[in-house]
Amino acid sequence: MNVEHVKCLIIGSGPAGYTAAIYTSRANLHPVVYEGLAPGGQLTMTTDVENFPGYPDGVSGTAMMESIRNQALRFGADIRSGLIVQVDLSKRPFIATTDGGHTLEAETLIVATGATAKYLGLASEAAYMGQGVSACATCDGFFYRKQDVVVVGGGDTACEDALYLAGLCRKVYMVVRRNVLRASKAMQKRVLETPNIEVLWEHQTKEVLGDDNGVNGVLLTNAKGEERTVAVTGLFVAIGHHPNTELFKNWLTLDEQGYIVTEGKSTATGVEGVFACGDVQDPVYRQAVTAAGSGCMAGIDAERFLLAKS
Ligand code: NDP
Repeated sequence: MNVEHVKCLIIGSGPAGYTAAIYTSRANLHPVVYEGLAPGGQLTMTTDVENFPGYPDGVSGTAMMESIRNQALRFGADIRSGLIVQVDLSKRPFIATTDGGHTLEAETLIVATGATAKYLGLASEAAYMGQGVSACATCDGFFYRKQDVVVVGGGDTACEDALYLAGLCRKVYMVVRRNVLRASKAMQKRVLETPNIEVLWEHQTKEVLGDDNGVNGVLLTNAKGEERTVAVTGLFVAIGHHPNTELFKNWLTLDEQGYIVTEGKSTATGVEGVFACGDVQDPVYRQAVTAAGSGCMAGIDAERFLLAKS
């Protein structure tokens, strides 16, 4: 079997993975990056990014990821398309196998596989993705200033999104499938006391309506099966995220939601030499800039780890 030996293997290619690649390539670790199913990560699903420092006029998510990727390439990162489908973290060097059957052994591993927003699964939702449909209010809310929008979901994220959007938009309809909110009591109270948020209890989203200009309404059904259309320009889906940790569940400590647990102010996991950064270990902030920041930390942690071992 032909096994490739690497000092640093990075799995994932969002802002965390690419930033880790910049730092580890500059530290001469010659990182190999496997980009995974969605090169560039969640940011390539959004439109403009206006809250990443350094882009005063905003930047498209795709263009920004391309820039960070190019920056990593400039320092010699070996960025490959393809998936890691299996890992063995029982001892160092760690073993990873790609979907093409290639085997690598890695002295350090940086996990940056991100999280995936859950969507409703409607064809019309997919059709208007980035044209009115979003799973990130903090990223895209600004584009809906003074407009009417829908937020789907009844958890803390949905409440947080609804409150954030209520500060920007004229009206926020919160579409909740049960007659209770799952969110914490404090969040519920804030939502219910906000005058421009209307909770539509026991409603489900049946279809996203729109035309060439994007979304112009959402068709809802209530518990009795009655239909109702709300005229809105945006639909924010906030029904949860799932961290992409399937590959690591037998090896790394995960929290009750499935996120990788890291130690203190570091990216160290419970396995020496394995580091985790970005949304895969962050259920709280989930921003491009925080993901990039933790990618930097993982790069530095991996470099220092190898230095201490040498
Ligand atoms: P949750 O899983 O807590 O909530 C998901 C919500 O979406 C629920 O109301 C659920 O309804 C609803 N939902 C799920 N699937 C569908 C569907 N197909 N159609 C319609 N509605 C659906 O996810 P969150 O992202 O809100 O929160 C994840 C975790 O992160 C939680 O532990 C939360 O407390 C935490 N968090 C904390 C924050 C804070 O403390 N500031 C901020 C954000 C998140 P149902 O209730 O009927 O299942």
